[in-house]
Order: sequence, then structure tokens, then C-alpha cells
Amino acid sequence: MTPQARGDAPEVRGRRVLVYSLGIEGRDLAAWLLANGAAVTMSDTRTDAQLAAAKASAPAGVERVVTGQPLLDPEGFDLVAVSQSVLRYDPALARARELGIPITSQMRLFLQLCPGRVIGITGSSGKSTTTALVGAMAREAGIAHVVGGNIGEALLGRLGEITPATTVILEISHTQLQYTDRSPAIGAITNVTPNHLDQFRWDEYVGLKRNLLAHQSPADIAILNVDDDTSIGLIPSVHGQLARTSLRGEVEGDGAWLEGGEVLVRRGGRARPVVDRSAIRLRGEHNVSNVVMACAVADAAGIPVEAMARAARAFPGVPHRLEIVGTASGATWINDSIATSPERTMAGLRALTEPVVLLLGGRDKKLPLDGLQALARERCRAIVCFGESGALFRDAMCTAVTDCTLVLTLDEAVTAAAARVQPGDAVLLSPAGTSFDVYPHFEARGEAFRALVRALPGFKEVA
Ligand code: ADP
Repeated sequence: MTPQARGDAPEVRGRRVLVYSLGIEGRDLAAWLLANGAAVTMSDTRTDAQLAAAKASAPAGVERVVTGQPLLDPEGFDLVAVSQSVLRYDPALARARELGIPITSQMRLFLQLCPGRVIGITGSSGKSTTTALVGAMAREAGIAHVVGGNIGEALLGRLGEITPATTVILEISHTQLQYTDRSPAIGAITNVTPNHLDQFRWDEYVGLKRNLLAHQSPADIAILNVDDDTSIGLIPSVHGQLARTSLRGEVEGDGAWLEGGEVLVRRGGRARPVVDRSAIRLRGEHNVSNVVMACAVADAAGIPVEAMARAARAFPGVPHRLEIVGTASGATWINDSIATSPERTMAGLRALTEPVVLLLGGRDKKLPLDGLQALARERCRAIVCFGESGALFRDAMCTAVTDCTLVLTLDEAVTAAAARVQPGDAVLLSPAGTSFDVYPHFEARGEAFRALVRALPGFKEVA
């Protein structure tokens, strides 16, 4: 496989560029633009106090910073560079399009400029786990690589450490696919399920995922999970070589699958066993799916099966994803704060065999709750609802689970859960809503939960 051709990145020397947002991506864009000779203005709707609290300040050399008002009108600028947090429907971007001003983004520029081979992993869930696992497999194989992407970092700032011999393993979110016009040499979609319907219509959301693969050439590789109907629907859009993954047995052609308790890969007609499912440290069926996807990606990248197997056996998981905090009152307390949609909460519930006391809450994303209701009826001893959408969750779940209670805060939710647990239960913070009602991000919510659980009487870490 050849590294992606350079080119197509806009010439920015001496140009007036307007950067939307002072967040991590905006600052990364501004720094790159300044280093390449552009005159940079930055605009953010947040007030100075909010920006100071978020530790977001413009890099030295930015000519003008406009804050605390709608995004600055782009008239008079040569280019608009936009953070993924600014959705393409934003009136400021509509105005840029009307004025014929080109729009770029961190991921668009990165894919245009990266001299190394890019592996891009997207999907509604499993992105971080699969990306981190592929990174672990690359490390085991001893290949030069960097792992990055949708994990809040200065991607353009890392271009200097990437050579044509570097494999770049990127987690890519749907919002990062809003402006891209290049595809990774290896593009993988873990699954496409309803999520972010507060931001995009379903067909638009699927279209953003499709954009990961839309610009591939015939030599590139597209990897799709054929256990997922929406992903199967993307097969006709594949321009590269198709590889498939499944937990339901052997796939057609190249790819990876689970069969007889074993993960296998096939490339060029030869199937090879990788690892026994029982040897995988991660919990839950969904994580077996992530391991199978990571093996398909690693195989497409030429990573040997021995390296894949070592990584799959040792990988402890990513924090805030079904992370075991410890035990108290004879129950296991689990932090799955990342679960910001009912679909993810369902994956968390399915991963556990114990009776569950489930903590639901946060900010609602207007997603259907019927699947969660049905699963909670089977799995949950009790449900404690908290936060901004607590009442909404309580109203939806009280028909499914008799012991369904409403409290205000996460703190009160932990107390209410502690009053309900029985030995052998799991208490699961898998809230199905975002953290933004109270916390800046899901990590902060997960950290708050950990601290509350560690303060419970009789708390013990798990060895
Ligand atoms: P992402 O990066 O896409 O947010 P993560 O790997 O961080 O995904 O996993 C987040 C949560 O999503 C997990 O705790 C689990 O609840 C759920 N999840 C992970 N992988 C899958 C999968 N393959 N299928 C369904 N749900 C999953």
C-alpha cells in the first residue's frame, strides 16, 4: 500500500484565515496556520471567563480574538478553519459557503498532509477501544506508529514526527468527517447505530460515517462489521478492497471473525487463528466485537498474528469504559461513564452477568428508550435516575423496573444505589445521557463517580 499522496492542502501563506473555536482543535489549527505564514483571527461564542475556565487561550501571533458573541462573519477572509464542534449547519458556515470561502478542518488538513499510512477507525461505539487495541498490536509488532485523533489533541502539531514509514492510527468521530475530502488507506467502521440524533438526521449521520470510505482508491482497504445491518448497507459505497468482520462465524473473503470460541483472520485466502475468546481480558460481547475488528485492521496493516494475540490477551481496556472501581457492600461498582446513549448502556448491561443496580442520567440526546426498557426489565434489580434528564429516564423506566427512583445528583445516586445493593450485584454507572448537564466531559463524571465509590464504607480495590 502506498502512503497517501500529499497535496490539496490550501496555500495559506499570506492569507487571512478565520478559525472557529478556541478549543483544542481550533488552537491546533491556529498554530499550524501561523507556522505556515497565515494571518489568523479566532472566534469563539464562549465568554472570556468561560474560556479561562476551560484553559483555552489563543496561541501567540493570532491577530484578533473575538469572544462572547456569535461566530464572526467570515466576509473578507480567504479561508475558514473550523473545529469539529462547529456543525456544518452553523449560520457562520452557511454564510462562508454563500460567500464562496473555502472551509477546512483539522482532520481534513491532516488527511491531506500526513506523509504516513493512515488507519482511520470510526463507528457509533467501540472507536476508542478498537483504536487503542490496534495501537497495542502495532506496539507489539514493533512497527513505527502514532495513535491519535478524536482524543482531544494537537494532531497537526504532530505532523513533524510522522514520516512515510509511520503508521498513523486515528480514532475519527462523525463530526470530524464533516469536512474531509480524503480517506484513510485503511478505513474501519465498528458499527453504525442511532446516536447524535440531536445533531444530525439519521441519514446525515450515516452519510458522515460513509465519508470515511468515500475517497478511497481501489488499493485501499475498507473494513465493515457485517453483524450490523446499517454497515452492510454501506458495502455498495466501498471503492477499496472490502474486508468483513463478524461474531457470527466465517466471513466471505478477507476479514476477521469468531468461530468455535476462537478469533480468526483471513487475508489473500489464508485463514489463521489469532486468539481464544476466553483469553481476552476485556469484558463483554461488544468487546469481543472490538477485538475482532482490531484483528481485521491489524491484518490489513500487515501486523503478524502473534503480535495481535499478545495485545488482545494483555489489553486492560480504556478508563471509563466498564472500568471496575472496586467492591463495597459485597457488590462490584463499575464506571461506564462513556455510555452517553441508550445503545451503549445496553452494551454495558449485556457485558454483565450479575443483577444490576443501574445509574441513569445526565443530558438527554432524544434517543429511543424502548430497547433499554426491555433489557433493563431482564437485568436490573433497581434503577436510580439523576441529573437533568432524571425525570425523563424515571418515567420511561418505571414501567420496566419496579424499584426505579429519582434523585437530583450523582452523589445522591451513589447513596441511593448503596442502599439498594445486595451481595453479588453490580452497580453500573452507564448513564445513557451525556455529562454536560453538570460536568465538562464524561471523564469528569467518571472521576466524580470513582471518588464517591471509594468513599463508601468498606470499599476495596479489586486486585
Ligand atoms: P467510542 O470511542 O466509540 O465512544 P469506546 O470504545 O470508548 O467507544 O466504548 C464506549 C462504550 O460503548 C463502552 O463502554 C460500551 O458501553 C460501548 N461499546 C464499545 N464497543 C462497542 C461495540 N462494539 N458495540 C456496542 N457497544 C460498544
